[in-house]
Amino acid sequence: MLRARLLLAAAAAAVLVALLPGTAQGATGPVTPTPAAPGPRTPDSVARAWRAEAPATVVVGRSVRGRLIVATRQGRADAPYVLLVLGQMHGSEPRGRAVVAAVRGLAPPAQVQVWTISTMNPDGAAAGSRTNARGVDLNRNFPRPGGAPPSRLPFTGSGTPGAATYRGPHPLSEPETAALDRFLAARRFVASANLHSFMGTVIPARVTDRPSYATYKRLCRTFAAAQPRRRYRRLANRLFDAFTGEQEDHQHHAYGTWAVCVEVFPVLASFRQHLCAPSVFWRFNPRDPTPWIDNDLPGLAAYFAAALELADRR
Ligand SMILES: [Zn+2]
Repeated sequence: MLRARLLLAAAAAAVLVALLPGTAQGATGPVTPTPAAPGPRTPDSVARAWRAEAPATVVVGRSVRGRLIVATRQGRADAPYVLLVLGQMHGSEPRGRAVVAAVRGLAPPAQVQVWTISTMNPDGAAAGSRTNARGVDLNRNFPRPGGAPPSRLPFTGSGTPGAATYRGPHPLSEPETAALDRFLAARRFVASANLHSFMGTVIPARVTDRPSYATYKRLCRTFAAAQPRRRYRRLANRLFDAFTGEQEDHQHHAYGTWAVCVEVFPVLASFRQHLCAPSVFWRFNPRDPTPWIDNDLPGLAAYFAAALELADRR
């Protein structure tokens, strides 16, 4: 319990330091290595320590058009607690990428490694389209837990090519989702957040057992309580919900990760902006992301700190 408190305090302290003006590192700058443990410092051990502590970059895979999907690690490679922030899945929703850039300016506490992926849909990002280059909605292309049949509810995915939520010929049919799945399978993520816009909501993985449902409720409340500007509502229902091939459902049920989808940029703010200059793109993305990043980072940090505390109790 004491260890859990220490970890939580460390996470909170790191977040506070990062949020103070002028103390965060540059958005893409490296994390400063912390002093290595005492002991003989041969050139080899120094090199090893540096490799373990420096930011790492791995190629997760390639898109349909061959663009790289890249993940970056902050914190030590041997840190036992592993987190993931995925900035963009829908190419028409780039706002989460700015959040990832801000997260990369934070120093994770000891024992924690944070992986970030700016976009897993670089083709969609280049084209400004929701789907990948083959017209597949990547957030309907993950395996449905337990092999659940496709839902018929609106927006839960379509079997018709050309539809905005086309789920593709079969789960993981796309190189982008297949690559991310390999990446998820290779690491033991404690918690993850995948970012979208716009709804101003936090959507936890769909779970039907009461303890997990209650835990997600708590995690989402923790997220919202830390937000200074606009608190995001939780969007979940234990009974009236469906598996739709979304990333958070797959990551929770296949890999035991606390996983949420965060829809940044609340509807009301989006509506106001849309009234000033109607455009589909600006309906989804704030013209000035800064105040919204300042609203999202504390929520994410609090959510992760609470999830880390849960992990420490296991
Ligand atoms: Zn989206």
